[in-house]
Amino acid sequence: MGDKYVIALDQGTTSSRAVLVDRTGAMVDCVQRAYQQIYPQPGWVEHNPQEILYSQLGALTELVSRHALSIDNVAAIGIDNQRETTIVWDPTTGEPIANAIVWQCRRTAPIIEELCGTEEVRASIQSKTGLLPDAYFSASKIKWLLDNVDGARERAEAGELLFGTVDTWLVWVLTGGLTHATDVTNASRTMLYNIHKGCWDEDLLSLFDIPQQMMPEVRPSASFFGETSYPGVPAGIPICGVAGDQQSALFGQCCFETGQAKNTYGTGCFLLMHTGADAPISRNNLVTTIVASPPEVGHTEYALEGSVFVAGALIQWLRDEMHLIRSAEETEYLAKSVPDAGGVTIVPAFTGLGAPYWNPEARGIICGLTRGTTPAHIVRAALEALAFQTHDLVRAMEADAGIALGELNVDGGASRNDFLMQFQADVLRATIRRPKNIETTSLGAAFLAGLASGYWSGTDELRALRSTDDVFSSNTTRDEADALVAGWKDAVRRAM
Ligand code: ADP
Repeated sequence: MGDKYVIALDQGTTSSRAVLVDRTGAMVDCVQRAYQQIYPQPGWVEHNPQEILYSQLGALTELVSRHALSIDNVAAIGIDNQRETTIVWDPTTGEPIANAIVWQCRRTAPIIEELCGTEEVRASIQSKTGLLPDAYFSASKIKWLLDNVDGARERAEAGELLFGTVDTWLVWVLTGGLTHATDVTNASRTMLYNIHKGCWDEDLLSLFDIPQQMMPEVRPSASFFGETSYPGVPAGIPICGVAGDQQSALFGQCCFETGQAKNTYGTGCFLLMHTGADAPISRNNLVTTIVASPPEVGHTEYALEGSVFVAGALIQWLRDEMHLIRSAEETEYLAKSVPDAGGVTIVPAFTGLGAPYWNPEARGIICGLTRGTTPAHIVRAALEALAFQTHDLVRAMEADAGIALGELNVDGGASRNDFLMQFQADVLRATIRRPKNIETTSLGAAFLAGLASGYWSGTDELRALRSTDDVFSSNTTRDEADALVAGWKDAVRRAM
């Protein structure tokens, strides 16, 4: 028999993946299954929970048959998942009562307006959950299902329905209905979990009129959730790691300690900074969230989280709408072909400006154009905009956490762009670290499961696996960096 593996189930918003990870942290193989996005009305987004399940199980069983996997050569399964997406089901039939309401869905915005309109309620929710009240989180989605599906409220009150985020649904099915549990990171995105006391908050459950008996038990991310017991899946494999996608990526980046941070450069950016046992309440519209901790950490640890709405999407816009480029990759060569952006600045406030500005009315601008401006200048300014937006988030986090960031770990599609990474180092005056394997989300789930099952000995072993990072060090003086940022801030003022 060969060496054992760990399997990560990476349940994302558009596809489900099963990833085979070996002892060196290498991704040996990966099976991906897309599934349907359902848009019943403008602003509404749903998934069919059975399709989520079959795409995930289809990917898993394909991986199993390709590598003859069984309890003999798989040490553990870890799960990372799209966060906040809400499923309610009947445990006796295993049938969901409706489609899952996806995190992006805006249907419950009126519920948030009605229930969380006052400053007092907002402040109370922020102090308990670390979140700023929004339709994004699970609370209002559960309420909507109970209010709008025939008989659902009565059944929930009679203890006949269960709620879960996608991790909970998958664990429940995979354990043959034995485990109804979630992990602390997913719980912290429901807006019903008191992140300081570590329990479902009774006041919030009653504010949203949600019976406590439908809520899952909450466990540490690196802990035993149950064993596989589902037809077609090898039986008896322990599920010992669960985390929401962003927290999983933070863990996959080996950010185990206070002050460590990661930024994912995808369609948007997701930045998380580990703040240790402190849960700072943001004054800059960031949220406080629970992180996945290694099994030996006996207390709750936190992070500040912020996002950039438009990052890679700006590059897509240059390609698909402006036709300035044919591929995202060529932005690197074009940006490097000019010594600077020629005075051009782009503020991609397509849907307003997020943290720390929080201005929904702002709109995008391109400024500083001259007769000498070329496509290369515009492309360079676009990449710089990704770095400037990340810079603003980092500075807001540093202020909220009282921690200076020396190093930023990066992943996501656009992190492959060397120009962008060097420019990011220059404006932040910090070191940028890019692991060889930028699939950090699934790696995090594998790490959690591998630590909890004893497959890896501890976090030192995991850190040692990432010796081959690409490192970008800052080449700017403080004055140079300040001058770059001053130009950006001036453009942001114009966008607002
Ligand atoms: P998501 O998971 O949000 O779909 P990915 O992590 O796959 O995103 O990253 C894709 C995004 O990154 C796209 O928006 C694309 O425009 C951008 N991107 C990909 N490669 C590059 C590159 N070399 N330079 C700049 N942007 C890139």
